[in-house]
Amino acid sequence: MDEIEILDIPISNINKAELLKDIDDHFQTPGGNLFFVTANPEIIMLTKSSNSYKEAITSADYVLADGIGVLIASKILGAPLREKLPGYELMHDFLAYANRHGKTVYFFGAKPGVAEQAAKNAKVEYRGLKVAGFMDGYTNKGPLVANEIAVTEPDFVFVAMGAPLQERWIAKYKDLFPTSVLVGVGGSFDVLSGNVKRAPKFWTNNNLEWFYRLITQPTRAKRMLKIPQFLMHVVKERFSR
Ligand code: UDP
Repeated sequence: MDEIEILDIPISNINKAELLKDIDDHFQTPGGNLFFVTANPEIIMLTKSSNSYKEAITSADYVLADGIGVLIASKILGAPLREKLPGYELMHDFLAYANRHGKTVYFFGAKPGVAEQAAKNAKVEYRGLKVAGFMDGYTNKGPLVANEIAVTEPDFVFVAMGAPLQERWIAKYKDLFPTSVLVGVGGSFDVLSGNVKRAPKFWTNNNLEWFYRLITQPTRAKRMLKIPQFLMHVVKERFSR
């Protein structure tokens, strides 16, 4: 697969159509599970301060560019990525795929009640969707819950516990899911359940989702400082090459 390395993390240079084709191939001839990371600057910066987290991220089958920050970084490095594939949109693409092909989905993560509401809303949006189950991301995050989810044999597992928890969890327990597609989707259940509003189309179309989140959730400001730090590292890497 075509990959572009950003601060030592290989990002998949793939578009949505190719990705869905890969998912199709995977279910036709399953050859193990598939682990998806949707990487933003925060995730890439975290890999710089933790080797074990970096191992978890690089063990993924696909590390996708979650947003404009990673796309800009690829441009700075002179190897532009073709497309951004945000976690929230990926989740919807997979929900639509699951619905079309009779695959089951599991919702794991977010505050008590949120995964359940997200599953309910998904069933309204995708009529006939087969939900294998749901579980909040606070009560239990260990082997007990991993086994409980695994016995439902879900085709897709959405893990919405934020970074770095969700990627660590998937890397640790993915062997319990021999043919599943496992995806870290951050705060996506908060949006799907209706608890948090996603940026309106104008903002997402103009690559301003980060700015919308900053003004609607100012408590994220500290986390967002990672974005300029990330870009500074990228510029440094560009000049050291
Ligand atoms: N979360 C969780 N368990 C935890 C900590 C967080 O399930 O122990 C959930 C939290 O409720 C939220 C999500 O993880 O739904 C993280 O959302 P955030 O918006 O921070 O993620 P992002 O989309 O920015 O990656």
